[in-house]
Formats: sequence, structure tokens, C-alpha cells
Amino acid sequence: MSMPEATPPPDMSLRDLTQFAEGLARRLAANFGFDPTTRDGHVSLALAQTVKLGEEVGELQAEVLGALEYQRREKAGRYSRDTLGGELADVMVCVALLADTFGVDLAQAVGSKIEQLEARNRQAEIAG
Ligand SMILES: [Mg+2]
Repeated sequence: MSMPEATPPPDMSLRDLTQFAEGLARRLAANFGFDPTTRDGHVSLALAQTVKLGEEVGELQAEVLGALEYQRREKAGRYSRDTLGGELADVMVCVALLADTFGVDLAQAVGSKIEQLEARNRQAEIAG
């Protein structure tokens, strides 16, 4: 029996995340009545996902403040390694949704970004 889409398995690759995001993007588009094959539907979906990413980044920021004990005392106890991980994951899912909307190959993009960063680090080591 295959895993339901809503509960991705642990140790996912970026390709697995991309695949999960494809299914989720289709359901979200249908739920909101956006037809991503039209210009208007594509724009609506992309803007909605970008705003959602911002919301999730805000939630992650709250978790970081909580982890650093920079939140008000009455909010203490609300934050843990698990809730921090959950918000990091929400941001990743939103990024994968946005990549899907624009047809960006996330695994390829992250791979080439890491190569660029490593090359820059090697240059800095040589120069330093
Ligand atoms: Mg969240």
C-alpha cells in the first residue's frame, strides 16, 4: 500500500518533496478555483503561494524567537525543537509549491546553488 500524499515519509529527497508539492499544488488550485493553465489562474496561484510563504516565514521567526527565549513569558512552553522543525518544514513545502508553480526544478536549483557556494568558498580560501 502506498503512503497517502498528506503524510510524506521521513528522509525525503528534494525529488520526493517536489512530487509531494505537485499533488498539493493541484489540490490547492482546485480548492481555490484557480486554473493554473490560464494566465489569471497562474498569477493568482503564484501570488497566493508567495503570501503563504511569507506567513510561514513569520511563523518560523516566532519559533526562532521562542527557541532563543526572546518571546514574552506567557508564550514560553509553546516552543520546542519539534515545533521549530515543523515551521522549517512548512517553509520548505511552500518553497516547493512555489517552485512547482513556476516549473523550477528545485533539486537541480539547490544542487547548482550548492556548487556555486562551494566554488565561492574555495576561491575565498585561495584568496585568504
Ligand atoms: Mg506553519
